[in-house]
Amino acid sequence: MNTALIVIDYTVDFVADDGKLTCGAPGQAIELKITRLIQQFLQEEQLVVFANDIHYEGDTYHPEAKLFPPHNIAGTVGRELYGTVKDAYDKNKQHCISLNKTRYSAFAGTNLHQLLQERKIHEIHLVGVCTDICILHTAVDAYNYGYKITIYRDGVASFNEAGHQWALEHFTSTLGVDLV
Ligand code: ZN
Repeated sequence: MNTALIVIDYTVDFVADDGKLTCGAPGQAIELKITRLIQQFLQEEQLVVFANDIHYEGDTYHPEAKLFPPHNIAGTVGRELYGTVKDAYDKNKQHCISLNKTRYSAFAGTNLHQLLQERKIHEIHLVGVCTDICILHTAVDAYNYGYKITIYRDGVASFNEAGHQWALEHFTSTLGVDLV
């Protein structure tokens, strides 16, 4: 085990047609790619981590309260993983790690860095949504921690096409990401 797949925010609220902050079709188009990667990483006995946004009903102090409609509220269906990614997680739960995150980056306020360090993992692969928000902020933190980073072009998506394209360029030109 020396590589980890980090699946970011692939939840109903961010992906489903009726999600509260959905990427819609571009988000749904990456479902099978993410599912296949989860299966591949598990087969190869690599680590798979699910990092999912969590918010609390009526929390007006959270900085996102001013920026986005309420989403990924604790205990709601919106916070559940989406589609076949949920099936893959449910089937393999005991071999995966699931983290709650309260900021864009999967490293911010979580023990992700410690979990990876303990396992001597220095290479991470990122999939999920949104390319230009949570994937980007996670990639920036991973860059600062010195991880080798791979991002899958057809494994990330955003509701903002211009932001998606900008972020893909930024990954390679500024963060040294292996974009595959
Ligand atoms: Zn959020």
